[in-house]
Formats: sequence, structure tokens, C-alpha cells
Amino acid sequence: MLEKNPKKAFTAREICDILEIDEEREVYELLKQISKILKKKKRIIEFTQPVCRKCGFVMKKMNVSRCPKCKSQWIEPPRFRIKEI
Ligand SMILES: [Zn+2]
Repeated sequence: MLEKNPKKAFTAREICDILEIDEEREVYELLKQISKILKKKKRIIEFTQPVCRKCGFVMKKMNVSRCPKCKSQWIEPPRFRIKEI
């Protein structure tokens, strides 16, 4: 699915909808597994880090629901994209 859309970046939420997964954290697990497979195909999953829309804080962890700095839940979610290396 991601491979078919190399130009498009997906959020975990969008991947949930496409793959009909209920929990976003399952997507993160899945992406970990996919990245191992893709390495063998000389491809990587590129992702943007989540950013707080309120204070601009960049999260190091991917799966965050709340800003550690200002506690805002207004988070720009990470987006994933397949990239050839
Ligand atoms: Zn913040």
C-alpha cells in the first residue's frame, strides 16, 4: 500500500483506515516490521517527527498524544513515506 504510493506520505491514522486497523499503536508495530523487510529491498521508511501545533516542540517519540512541553493535545502527527536508497 505504501509502496504503491511513494509520493504520498501517510499518517498512522490514515494507515489505520486503509488497512482497517483499530489501534494506531498497531500501525507503529507494523511499520517496524515493514522497515525490516524494506531494508532488504533497499528502501526505507522516511517519517516526519510529530510537532506540537501550539508551541512547535518536536517530539522524539513517534507515538505521542500530548506535548511534553506545554501538555497540548494539538499534535501534528508523524507522516510515513517509502523512500528508495
Ligand atoms: Zn507544545
